[in-house]
Amino acid sequence: PTPAAPLLTARHLRARYGGFTALDGVDLDLSPGRITAVVGPNGAGKSTLFHCLAGTLRPARGTVRLGGRDITALPAHARSRLGVARTFQQLAVFPSLTVAENVRVGAEQGRVPHPGAVERMLRLLGLDGPLRALPAAGLPTGTLRRVELARLLAGGPRVLLLDEPAAGLDSAEVTALARVLKALAADGTALLVVEHDLDLVAGLADVVHVMTAGRIVASGPPGHVLDALGTAAGP
Ligand code: ADP
Ligand code: MG
Repeated sequence: PTPAAPLLTARHLRARYGGFTALDGVDLDLSPGRITAVVGPNGAGKSTLFHCLAGTLRPARGTVRLGGRDITALPAHARSRLGVARTFQQLAVFPSLTVAENVRVGAEQGRVPHPGAVERMLRLLGLDGPLRALPAAGLPTGTLRRVELARLLAGGPRVLLLDEPAAGLDSAEVTALARVLKALAADGTALLVVEHDLDLVAGLADVVHVMTAGRIVASGPPGHVLDALGTAAGP
């Protein structure tokens, strides 16, 4: 089948911190039903790109469009209302609310309030058992990441941006996360995964972009791109 037209497009993005250019002419397309990964060493500019797409950093140059609409000047909360959801480096859950209540808040803040979304997302993330009634405070990090994701997803995002979603997860949790992300893509969500865990990306992404020093230096299907990286890295 022909891939769907891109939903979120970034063109010629440049970002600076003072005199330092952290992004230097980056183009990126995110399409419904596709998982796009951005990999690269620490300091490559992955998080900076993520912030430009999420609206937490205004690029010095370039544009971000959502479904053809120029959203470059929109702050993060306005993008979120248009269906661009993002994870946070710091966990964003309400500690005093239960797991299910946290997810309900997400549904209420969503783009299109969807009555079935809370239960569907609790199930998808394996939070529909006894866990659902527990306060978030005190739950292990891996569980809280699932709560955070369920909360975001209950809002029905069209685009989901994830910065290092595997950080702090054990290998069973990474496998479960990959399954969830694939299910979301199959539902038509456009996903971006910024990650330096190449193993996660290899089994997950439809397309991988490699960033170095603020530029995308290679792009393609994971087998192709990651093999080339392995070769370049030597034994
Ligand atoms: P990555 O996520 O790939 O590790 P970042 O986007 O976080 O890379 O950072 C890219 C570059 O920009 C790095 O050299 C980093 O030190 C620098 N940088 C990131 N954030 C800031 C900031 N707030 N102020 C100054 N420099 C920053
Ligand atoms: Mg980063």
